[in-house]
Amino acid sequence: MKVLENEALKKYTTFRMGGTARKMYFPENTEELEELAGKNRDILKYVIGGGSNLIINDEKEFDEVLCLREFNKTFENKGDGHFYIGASVRLQKAIRSVNEAGYGGMEFLFSVPGLIGGALYMNAGTGRKTGKYISDFVISVDILKNGEKKTLTKEECGYAFRTSVFQTYDDCIILGAQFRFPEMTKEQAQKGIDDRLALCKKTQDMSYPNFGTVFCVSNTKIMDLVRKMHIGYKNGCTYSPVRKNWMLNREEGNFRQAMKLLDKVKRLHKFFRKECKCEVRIWE
Ligand SMILES: Cc1cc2nc3c(=O)[nH]c(=O)nc-3n(C[C@H](O)[C@H](O)[C@H](O)COP(=O)(O)OP(=O)(O)OC[C@H]3O[C@@H](n4cnc5c(N)ncnc54)[C@H](O)[C@@H]3O)c2cc1C
Repeated sequence: MKVLENEALKKYTTFRMGGTARKMYFPENTEELEELAGKNRDILKYVIGGGSNLIINDEKEFDEVLCLREFNKTFENKGDGHFYIGASVRLQKAIRSVNEAGYGGMEFLFSVPGLIGGALYMNAGTGRKTGKYISDFVISVDILKNGEKKTLTKEECGYAFRTSVFQTYDDCIILGAQFRFPEMTKEQAQKGIDDRLALCKKTQDMSYPNFGTVFCVSNTKIMDLVRKMHIGYKNGCTYSPVRKNWMLNREEGNFRQAMKLLDKVKRLHKFFRKECKCEVRIWE
């Protein structure tokens, strides 16, 4: 297993922000992961997949960080639209492989720069209006918890909008999942991918590093006001002036700025007595 010392974590996040890991572990299979977690439960505290939904404190040294990009890249076609997909498989790769087999449905995730494990943890999907999520296709999820392997049925995963039961555990690794997809021609699947990418080109702000949507619960009017007010730091972290509910790191951004910007929006919601909840995960 590869173990890196004093590794800069910003390299592993799409927001390009993060302190260092004194030790960063890259298990190459489930056995290595189990052995590591068995010896040291603390290793499960800071877990990173694709790093596309994370703000990591850049002033902090993390003792141990576990990177899950390599340990399970299994993709198994079990027939009749039934697939097993490992947690380390990139979403784009998973979608293409399912499509190759004549099935589909998850093309709306083609724009998401994460892994299957992170998507299962976040219940990644489209917005509330269109309401399509990875969990729509889940049969069951395999996890490692308290040093034991378990299989949770979809119902046991507690899926709701950008929510799963896994977000309430502090010692759980998603290993992979069983999925069922409907039949789909390659042309239909490609159209789904093209439509999603075209929509994202119009609606997302990719001018600087980001982590996608900031809040999974927020008030549209407040978020629109925030966008119009250009709240942020010159050359640092800022709310996108183009896309609502979207934060950018204009290269010189830091963790304190990001936290201040989150706090400002939370306070605005509190002032107007509106609900708001962060979607992005934060390593303080
Ligand atoms: C440009 C852009 C577009 C995006 N578009 C969307 C979108 O359309 N829809 C959407 O829902 N999201 C979107 N996102 C957000 C993000 O990509 C998703 O939440 C994605 O599912 C996160 O996956 P990840 O592998 O990168 O997870 P990470 O960012 O690495 O981790 C996220 C959380 O999951 C935990 N985690 C990761 N893997 C595991 C595992 N195997 N076991 C246990 N815990 C784990 C981490 O500890 C962390 O708490 C977007 C992000 C970007 C940058």
